[in-house]
Amino acid sequence: MQVISCLSLSGGMGKTTCSFFLGLHLSKLGYKVLMVDSDPQSNLTFYLSIGVEADEPTLLEILRKQIEVEEGIYATKYSNLWIIPSDDALNQAQEYLSNSGMGAVVMKKRLAEVSQMFDFCIIDSPPQRSQISLTVLGATDRLLIPAEVSSKGINSICRTLDLVDEQVEIEAFAGKILGILPFRERWVGIRQTRKSKESLETIRLFLEEESRPALKRIKILPSLIESEQFKKAMDSGKTLGELGHEDLEYPFQQISKLLSSSLVTTV
Ligand code: ATP
Ligand code: MG
Repeated sequence: MQVISCLSLSGGMGKTTCSFFLGLHLSKLGYKVLMVDSDPQSNLTFYLSIGVEADEPTLLEILRKQIEVEEGIYATKYSNLWIIPSDDALNQAQEYLSNSGMGAVVMKKRLAEVSQMFDFCIIDSPPQRSQISLTVLGATDRLLIPAEVSSKGINSICRTLDLVDEQVEIEAFAGKILGILPFRERWVGIRQTRKSKESLETIRLFLEEESRPALKRIKILPSLIESEQFKKAMDSGKTLGELGHEDLEYPFQQISKLLSSSLVTTV
């Protein structure tokens, strides 16, 4: 099982959107996909229509080792797609992870127990730097950094890469950065807006000019175009293709290709 995390240290960067559509796309290709909602806001859980009662198992109980991992895995309405859901209570994991003394490896160790059951695991993460984001990074093989095409997005990339650097330094992140996924790139008709063009160029220059050599090799993936169709698809439980917007799926097709090729080489 390859673990892919959508992490970006600001709100509204497209983490949940990216997790949802990438997971759905991979599952439609026939891969067995486990989604993990590691955000106490639990938006991914909601979009996958999983209602969790307070006494039902979630990611919290898995991280605290109170249940077997399999007990916290739920089927979704989509075939080949499962989820470990979360709810507000996941905030309680922060204290457990920081007291455990090995918070960075807790998620990795637990997911390893079900690694034979799935081809891919996609983790949606919270927007803050926290014990949860550290344990997510520790479990990650391939990191996707969604970032709005705006100055806020550039700031989020910087903050996320700083965190990655710190974790590499202490050997708590051994994965690879799959790329930056530009989010909400704006087009009016057949024209990309000037603002979007400038922001994308700034992201490109930032990566090129970075003093950290590793960053120069970070890819900028094909953008998610600003469109209300993404929300429509999530709300209706349909794919973008089923809504007649297959063109908007292009970024997920490309990411899936990258992931499938590395699946072949890592097995
Ligand atoms: P948070 O940090 O709060 O978890 P996030 O990084 O997970 O946010 P999303 O929830 O994926 O970000 O997206 C932010 C908002 O943008 C959502 O309201 C979502 O419906 C909307 N959205 C998603 N895709 C698009 C798109 N392509 N164009 C415009 N808006 C979009
Ligand atoms: Mg989210």
